[in-house]
Amino acid sequence: MSPTHAPVGAARQGSLRELNLALVLGRIAAADRPPSRADLATATGLTRATVSAVVEDLLAGQLVSEAEPAPRAGAGRPARGLVLADQGPAGLGLEVNVDYLTVCVVDLAGQVRHRTVHRADLRPVAPEDALARLVDLARQARADAARQGLTLAGAALAVPGLIDDSGQVRLAPNLGWRDVPVPELLSAHPPLTDRVPDVPALVVDNEANLAALGELHSRPPGPASFLHISGEVGIGAGIVLDGALFRGARGWSGEIGHLPVHPQGRPCRCGGRGCLEQYAGQEAIVAAAGLVRAELPADTATARLAELAEAGEPAALRALNDAGTALGVAVAGVVNLLDLDTVVLGGGYAPLAPWLCPPVLAEIKARVLTAAWSPVTVRPSTLGPEAAAVGAAGSVVRRIVARPAGWLNRAG
Ligand SMILES: [Zn+2]
Repeated sequence: MSPTHAPVGAARQGSLRELNLALVLGRIAAADRPPSRADLATATGLTRATVSAVVEDLLAGQLVSEAEPAPRAGAGRPARGLVLADQGPAGLGLEVNVDYLTVCVVDLAGQVRHRTVHRADLRPVAPEDALARLVDLARQARADAARQGLTLAGAALAVPGLIDDSGQVRLAPNLGWRDVPVPELLSAHPPLTDRVPDVPALVVDNEANLAALGELHSRPPGPASFLHISGEVGIGAGIVLDGALFRGARGWSGEIGHLPVHPQGRPCRCGGRGCLEQYAGQEAIVAAAGLVRAELPADTATARLAELAEAGEPAALRALNDAGTALGVAVAGVVNLLDLDTVVLGGGYAPLAPWLCPPVLAEIKARVLTAAWSPVTVRPSTLGPEAAAVGAAGSVVRRIVARPAGWLNRAG
């Protein structure tokens, strides 16, 4: 990704008001129940007067709103709690994948307020044309957001590939993209979002990373360390360790699809042999089940597999079992290495989880040294197949919550 932040002036960064805004908003965002001003004063150590002034700024800027007071027995006016606003700034999440484009809008509270999935095989489509289609969908999302009182404050784009610090896609093998200057191509179009200080207009990141971040920040909070695997035509993983995404030395961690599960096996698009993707990628499963992918509309491949498995069709069950076994071999290696207790199956794997989980667990049981006394949980993602786009939009929202002054200080 580009882990770069928008430049922040040293003087502005240090301003006490800005720090207090971030402190109070962060507490409201993290609270289990809507906190009152008094709760916030206790939690932050700020005076009641300071909290009141900060809250007024946040209310005026549409970053928070007052929750409906909970009915309370006894005398006295109940204190009104504060929640993140459902109008005001929102994040735009985008995803380009091999056979779909997704656009979504997530508000400050993390609610998905707009979602479009456009199914199409994008491999024969030039990157600039795929991005132009995405821009069209984003424009519709922006208009829909505006109708709901939301302003898009920044965007993040998920791509199934290796992305460098400048947001260029170095390689997305399954899309056939190599050295695609995504930010430059998108800048040829009108801006997708409003310009908000401290919020990058566009971040490009790996889809598996963004899906893992979406899972990490979903409610209720899950484990602090886990492996999130996105199973599409390609297979990517996001590694979350102690509450943070592990990106690796150059930001390119998580290429689980190219772990060899049969060292002398089928040749892979990456140039290697026997990669997991060749046995547990969506195309491999579809072919093993005896389905012809070209005859299936792109969006129905996973649904069709699930349908056949549900009906007990032997070839589909065998294909899913074999894919799960290959996946389990790779996952067991990762679990042995990193000591993770949770594996989340996301993307196209989520609806297939009922059939993939048992063979994955069987391999973990057979191969992970510690599995006997420390079981590993394998479960589907709670975010559904749009996890990467939702995670992308959520990453924008978290940036706004972390630095609310940029939104409050914006021009216009
Ligand atoms: Zn490979």
